[in-house]
Amino acid sequence: MREISVDLITNNIKEMCIEANHYLADDMVNCLKNAIDTEEGELGKKVLSSLEENLKIAGSDMIPICQDTGMAIIFIKVGQDVHFVDGNLEDAINEGVRRGYVDGYLRKSVVNDPIIRENTKDNTPAIIHYEIVSGDKVEITFAPKGFGSENMSRVFMLKPADGIEGVKNAILTAVKDAGPNACPPMVVGVGIGGDFEKCAILAKKALTRSVSIHSDIPYVKDLEEEMLEKINALGIGPGGLGGKNTAFAVNIETYPTHIAGLPVGINICCHVNRHVKRVL
Ligand code: SF4
Repeated sequence: MREISVDLITNNIKEMCIEANHYLADDMVNCLKNAIDTEEGELGKKVLSSLEENLKIAGSDMIPICQDTGMAIIFIKVGQDVHFVDGNLEDAINEGVRRGYVDGYLRKSVVNDPIIRENTKDNTPAIIHYEIVSGDKVEITFAPKGFGSENMSRVFMLKPADGIEGVKNAILTAVKDAGPNACPPMVVGVGIGGDFEKCAILAKKALTRSVSIHSDIPYVKDLEEEMLEKINALGIGPGGLGGKNTAFAVNIETYPTHIAGLPVGINICCHVNRHVKRVL
């Protein structure tokens, strides 16, 4: 049994909050560069160049990439041979988010009740997805999520007879409805299978996969490529001002499901697809 102090979790999460909000992962930066090269419309090229400049300033002057520094989404895989000491794990995670957002001067975007709506003033609580795995390591993925794009996300409870064509229609419907509201170019996370909540979690998890890596399931890889092509043919373009770069990637995850259902979750993210991962 490996003992890990929860203070280590707090310190890492604090750093990850600040890192994710100031630097995009290399795969996202490369997508942006590639889009500047391939965009044909003048306006679209201008929007993409401004996004690139914004990204550079964010890193060099330590200004968040976007004013919406997001709700703190955390995927944590805990090895079953780990014993946490010095406190409660969930409290430690939230303390990390609190310190990251307060000490890092990041916008606090969380309200304590969805109807009363009083700001918690420290961006807590986080939304935490736990997974117990083999071994004695802890893997943390931190992915702050802005709500311009989150609000455009959807769950479709399709029937098995809808098949793969139904899935394609669902993805295209979600992206068309999102239009400029999701701050395109987008990354489209899709979860197929599971049940009502599982497909949504899969879709969110799909956004944390590098946009340069396809699914290793052959038909899913084909679907990712086909949907990216179809989405980019919609002409929504950078900033919704027209062009061929509406999405950088479509990342799809699948899971077994019930004989009577075909759930599809579509979690849309903007060009600020922030995620950092650490293994402790
Ligand atoms: S959708 Fe993304 S780019 Fe647009 S405001 Fe939200 S975090 Fe910022």
